[in-house]
Amino acid sequence: MADPYQWLDKALNTIHQAHWYRNVTPIESPPGPVVQVAGQSLINFASNDYLGLANDPRLKQAAIQALETWGTGSTGSRLLSGHRPLHQQLEQALATWKRTEAALVFSSGYLANLGTLLALVGPRDLILEDEYNHSSLKRGGQLSGATVITYQHGDAADLQQKLAEHRQDYRRCLMVSDGVFSMDGDVCPLPALLDLAKTYGCMVLIDDAHGTGTLGQAGAGCREYFGWPAGELIQIGTLSKALGSLGGYVAGSARLIDYLRNRAATWIYSTGLSPADTAAALAAVQIIRQDSQRLERLKSNVTYLKKRLDSLSLSLLPSDSPIICIKIPHAQEALQLAQTLKTQGLFAPAIRPPTVPTSRLRLSVMATHSQAHLDQLMEALTQSTAVTG
Ligand SMILES: *Cc1c(COP(=O)(O)O)cnc(C)c1O
Repeated sequence: MADPYQWLDKALNTIHQAHWYRNVTPIESPPGPVVQVAGQSLINFASNDYLGLANDPRLKQAAIQALETWGTGSTGSRLLSGHRPLHQQLEQALATWKRTEAALVFSSGYLANLGTLLALVGPRDLILEDEYNHSSLKRGGQLSGATVITYQHGDAADLQQKLAEHRQDYRRCLMVSDGVFSMDGDVCPLPALLDLAKTYGCMVLIDDAHGTGTLGQAGAGCREYFGWPAGELIQIGTLSKALGSLGGYVAGSARLIDYLRNRAATWIYSTGLSPADTAAALAAVQIIRQDSQRLERLKSNVTYLKKRLDSLSLSLLPSDSPIICIKIPHAQEALQLAQTLKTQGLFAPAIRPPTVPTSRLRLSVMATHSQAHLDQLMEALTQSTAVTG
């Protein structure tokens, strides 16, 4: 018999030939604005730890104390033996922050998206997705069995046209969008989406993975950024980025959360979030809500870097967030630039197909970057012919 796994070699070869092959690089230090990689100290523009909370003593203390009190694992699904007072406290804090009636935490943002999509729609229903949505939203749409129609990125006119054409052929309709687009940095047109949802009778799900802790006056995300009431909006996010922990959440109406506790398979059949992760996320939400300085620092760093980047003749993607992307025509060139920056002590990843349609250098700004860190990046970019040439 032929080796039934041999196709793996061919598949890997194809990935290599397309220059799409990727691999992991260990970070040999705690998270922060400067990290150690392969013995080299690099200024970090590759982290989702926007507020610098992942190594904050208060989060670590909260996690240690939860570990001492509650042990390492939560030992079961939340509906059986896995539910702790900490989960309830975190869900209450998230709901208050997001201005919703209730919230539910999942083991990851990816699982929160999958579980929610699969619970809300099925084969008789319609999903409308922004073409640049995160993998978890796209996969969730496919797995749900609903008809998925993609609209052009951020384009409410295209969305309206598709609703007008298709809405009446389906039972439920769910509009799905990233809040902040993870590989671009721009924000979805939420007011227009909500307007269309009202006209066409649709539910709306916003994935605020990168907006949580970074957008709006109190860092509550996309809804707060637009000054919109929460209403029935389904707000999903992660505890793993600006909140410095691990896990995901859904925030929304009490009836939505009640329904998900009964129908979201990725929540029902998965072990409850660990005590340490739960406590760290809870501490992060409390810190963000009590102290606006970190968020202000993040925003002023973003403003400063954008202003300096604007003075170079770069092709920047539009951004309203700490994610700033420099367009680079070819994947090879993007990789080369990332490599050059690395030799100069800067960690800024090249993002290329198939993750995104066009190659780019993606910069993530942190509240804990000093002005000297940002200036060092600018100096290196100014010298780089790949960018300015
Ligand atoms: C990171 C991310 C997720 C997944 O969240 P995890 O908690 O890391 O699983 C989902 N959606 C978007 C837009 C993301 O950027």
